[in-house]
Amino acid sequence: MEKNIIWDTLWIDVNLATFDDSQVPYGVIEDAAIAVQGDKIAWIGSQSDLKAPYTDLAHEVHSGNHGWIMPGFIDCHTHLIYAGNRSQEFELRLQGATYEALAEAGGGIRSTVLATRAMDEKTLFEQSAKRLKVLLSEGVTTIEIKSGYGLALESEEKMLRIARRLGEQFPVNVRTSFLGAHALPDEFLNAPDAYIPWLCDVLLPYLHEHHLVDAVDASCEHIAFSFEEVKQIFSKAKSLGLPVKLHADQLSDSKGALLAAEFQAFSADHLEYISEDSLKAMSNSGTVAVLLPASFYYLRETHVPPINLFRQYKIPIAIGSDSNPGTAPTLSLLTTLNMACILFRLTPEEVLRGVTVHAAKALGLQETHGTLTPGKIADFVLWDIERPAELTYWIGYNPVVHIVKSGKIVTPV
Ligand SMILES: [Zn+2]
Repeated sequence: MEKNIIWDTLWIDVNLATFDDSQVPYGVIEDAAIAVQGDKIAWIGSQSDLKAPYTDLAHEVHSGNHGWIMPGFIDCHTHLIYAGNRSQEFELRLQGATYEALAEAGGGIRSTVLATRAMDEKTLFEQSAKRLKVLLSEGVTTIEIKSGYGLALESEEKMLRIARRLGEQFPVNVRTSFLGAHALPDEFLNAPDAYIPWLCDVLLPYLHEHHLVDAVDASCEHIAFSFEEVKQIFSKAKSLGLPVKLHADQLSDSKGALLAAEFQAFSADHLEYISEDSLKAMSNSGTVAVLLPASFYYLRETHVPPINLFRQYKIPIAIGSDSNPGTAPTLSLLTTLNMACILFRLTPEEVLRGVTVHAAKALGLQETHGTLTPGKIADFVLWDIERPAELTYWIGYNPVVHIVKSGKIVTPV
């Protein structure tokens, strides 16, 4: 009898955590199968609904050995591209060095800016690629990468060009964020009021013109940029048709989340000190709350974001690694998930939704990514685990079996 092949690939003997809208926890379908056609999910459902023999249904049939398939992880907040690291600063701090001593030893974000500016594009690409591979090995299939260690035209362009190339050369969907308002560059120390106008009139339009910017980010904090300055940046971004997002309310209530909501930002990130007024505004604007437990841990913060209020106002919570050399030198999203449970008391389902469906929304990708849904891009991971919560339970254990990017197996990355 002639075979009636309908799909490219079929995965059988799996359990699915779809994270769709169904009321079932994790959107679970046990004893399931998932089919891929081209780069998209073509079908999901109970394996018993498929007509045997399965080998007749697809060109390739894989058994998942009763593991779990979930959407590929989306790391929606990283500063992955930088030169050098700050382990010396880390060591000095643990030897009791004062802030002044660290500044003298060239510490802080300034040191990363100097190192990143000085490094040639090829070396910076290679160093960043090394880090990216580690993140990808834990099931990340989409990543957001920020600029912000250049703070000058050439070096910001260099960072964003590297981000684009990483997305071309590795099996990962890269979304770039322009973070020119990360810190004040040295050149503007004597004229701080001139930096934001230059950023709005010269830097951002140039990078946008070269198709390097998917979203515009800023840091709204008393030690970074003011509410009014961020407003100018956001207005410029809107006039260019670019979505915005914001580092907000990390160290104090700077009303950053309120501003983010006003501009219908994709996300407001950190939010340890967010006020209830800002929360209400976020719930009306659909802005995602991106929580970053790794930097909370690293800074030994004690002021936990108001998780119960996020729940009460039904604000979607996403989790990012915040991978960066100063406050979150981590390359493990799995470890970050555990931190979110332990430090913020989020549930395993909340944190897993935070790196799938809600992280997709935080990047404006909710129509195409973040859930196992027919028609969406076939980015998913097969895990050797007994239940979904296991991914948030271990520290230092990576149960990845296979990573599928746009329908194709890409393991090992
Ligand atoms: Zn950040």
